[in-house]
Amino acid sequence: MTVALPPLEPRLRLATVWLAGCSGCHMSFLDLDEALFTLAERFDLVHSPVASDRKRFPEGVDVCLVEGAVASEDNLAMARRLRRCSRLVVALGDCALNGNVTALRNQHPDGLAGMLQRCWGVPADRRDGVLPRLLERVLPLHAVIRVDHVLPGCPPGPERIWTLLESLR
Ligand code: SF4
Repeated sequence: MTVALPPLEPRLRLATVWLAGCSGCHMSFLDLDEALFTLAERFDLVHSPVASDRKRFPEGVDVCLVEGAVASEDNLAMARRLRRCSRLVVALGDCALNGNVTALRNQHPDGLAGMLQRCWGVPADRRDGVLPRLLERVLPLHAVIRVDHVLPGCPPGPERIWTLLESLR
């Protein structure tokens, strides 16, 4: 995908976060291909799983794209921190928007304990230290923090990601 647009001023601080998702939304972000060079002229990518393994979400982020639903206590803590530190939060893709595939486990009649036992043979009282501490139900992003924009799709296409980013000034 080739996009030629004039630089935005000032540069915005961009972050992307991967909560409980399959990484497909980040793959779609990477599918911006050559447009990533244009993106780099306009945004500073200050936090992203595609750029570094830095765990601590930074202060002073202008735009944060969030892939994935909120399925664990770690996800919840990250969602709250990114909200505190970001001017605009974007739910990127259907998992962040409504739970989508990630929330299928909510359908188990015996809840989280039943799902753990059936899928991994791990009783709920023995999951600590074995699995991340999961929430009883998978939640969409807007259930735990305020969301400013949504980009539906599984995943949303790179053109739509670019259109959103290009509109942010
Ligand atoms: Fe993966 Fe689709 Fe969820 Fe994105 S919305 S994380 S592509 S399942």
